[in-house]
Amino acid sequence: MELRLLSHIPIEHFDVVIIGAGLSGIGAGYRLQTRCPGKRYVILESRDSIGGTWDLFRYPGVRSDSDMFTLGYPFRPWKEAEAIAGGPAILKYVRETAEEYGIDRHIRFQHRVLSASWSSKEALWLVDVQVGNEERRAQYTCNFLYGCTGYYRYEAGYEPEFPDADKFRGRFVHPQHWPQHLDYSGKKVVVIGSGATAVTLVPAMSETAAHVTMLQRSPSYILTLPVHDPAAEFMRRVLPQRTAHRVIRWKNILVSMGLYQLSRRAPERMRKLLREGAAKSLPPGYDVDVHFKPRYAPWDQRLCLIPDADLYKSISAGRASVVTDEIDRLTENGIRLASGQELTADIIVSATGLQMLALGGVQLHVDGTPINPGEAFVYKGLMLSNVPNFAFCVGYTNASWTLRADLASIFVCRVLNHMDRRRYRACAPACDPASLEARPLLDLTSGYVTRAAAGIPKRATTKPWLIRQNYILDMLTMRLSRIDDGVLKFDKIAKARGTPSSEEIPVAVGND
Ligand SMILES: Cc1cc2nc3c(=O)[nH]c(=O)nc-3n(C[C@H](O)[C@H](O)[C@H](O)COP(=O)(O)OP(=O)(O)OC[C@H]3O[C@@H](n4cnc5c(N)ncnc54)[C@H](O)[C@@H]3O)c2cc1C
Repeated sequence: MELRLLSHIPIEHFDVVIIGAGLSGIGAGYRLQTRCPGKRYVILESRDSIGGTWDLFRYPGVRSDSDMFTLGYPFRPWKEAEAIAGGPAILKYVRETAEEYGIDRHIRFQHRVLSASWSSKEALWLVDVQVGNEERRAQYTCNFLYGCTGYYRYEAGYEPEFPDADKFRGRFVHPQHWPQHLDYSGKKVVVIGSGATAVTLVPAMSETAAHVTMLQRSPSYILTLPVHDPAAEFMRRVLPQRTAHRVIRWKNILVSMGLYQLSRRAPERMRKLLREGAAKSLPPGYDVDVHFKPRYAPWDQRLCLIPDADLYKSISAGRASVVTDEIDRLTENGIRLASGQELTADIIVSATGLQMLALGGVQLHVDGTPINPGEAFVYKGLMLSNVPNFAFCVGYTNASWTLRADLASIFVCRVLNHMDRRRYRACAPACDPASLEARPLLDLTSGYVTRAAAGIPKRATTKPWLIRQNYILDMLTMRLSRIDDGVLKFDKIAKARGTPSSEEIPVAVGND
């Protein structure tokens, strides 16, 4: 299969094309230039700035809900005082990392990757790109394609249809596209949702709003963590910066793994601990079981984290409240609930979640055949079954994203170096889908995960098609396991590496 080149545009070739300049794409750039220093790479980014999630989301109070010692890169210490950081501080950190290591010089902004076609004959990807808002097209070829596109659709969040939504006379807002100058001081606000965004927005808006109501259909588990980690502060005082970062990072990895394991192995105990935490921070007599006792087990859905119990403090101060009910319809002045109660609102915020999107919407083809990500299996959490020279980066759902994202980039570098050493030109995890038992990629029952499950690649129940939410096991696999494990199949090289070729190269698929 020959690549279909557009004759009117020049084509640039890179060893590696990374898609996306968010936290993961910048981390991938660092790993590539340090572990595969000879490789020429480019980062194609559809937006006009670095940072992805941390640049897009601008709602009041936007912050991390995991600690920055693990959400930050292992190679660049987090130096700010707060362990739970605001969006602007995280964005600054990602941008400064890109500048410090010269990764920013590799980024092409306003380059949206639309599709990529693999030719086995040429052992190359042809990447089709839309440049800017106009319909200008560009093409790139590369030997290896690495998707660091995050996990959701940037254009729009998930907005369920509320009956009579057009009747509401106030302002309706989605957190993914926060209006820059939205003035909510002295206004009555209803935030629909109970996830990480809702529990962030409510205390932040309640500082100046007349009142903020969090309207939830059902409760989520909430865990309180201190903004300032006293143990981290102590270690920073007594240890050199890099050592302190490493020690605090490992402490936090072990604590979050412990919490996750406790939730899965002793859910009743964890349920009790979380309930007690809520009851202690809320006013006496508060109906904790109605508003803060979910029906599912801890970690069936992502645990929401609140720094310094800020949500509970807003509720205790009377600035915010929680209503657990269903929406019947919107009215001129607010929301009518199934119970008959009416919530009046000047502003309704629909914190109803994201729309998951596989591979940033990039359509992959292998030798002319379109790849349906929903039918593919994921190898070691980062490569797609039978898709050559391609990997994508997803983080953990039960711990900081970067922990897994960084391991993925390290593994990609190992694969590239292995191929160079053995003079391979292509590799793909081989699988017969009929032989594997398919499971959803993410082990969560959250709405955004179940809504999108059909279009998201699958995991299986056996190695190396498992997704383990376990950093230590993953670290051992990604850093130390054999690259030629019998599942990853390689093509022998027939000519100089890194040069696009139109000559036919004999393909000999086999084990290392
Ligand atoms: C509000 C919010 C808070 C979060 N808080 C946490 C947290 O505290 N801890 C945690 O672990 N995780 C958190 N997450 C998950 C978060 O997305 C990750 O932590 C991390 O930011 C993901 O980085 P990324 O680079 O992989 O993806 P993103 O940040 O989504 O960046 C992807 C980049 O790829 C670009 N892109 C996508 N498709 C294409 C394409 N086709 N062509 C070109 N470019 C493309 C995008 O424009 C974007 O710049 C949060 C997510 C949200 C939405």
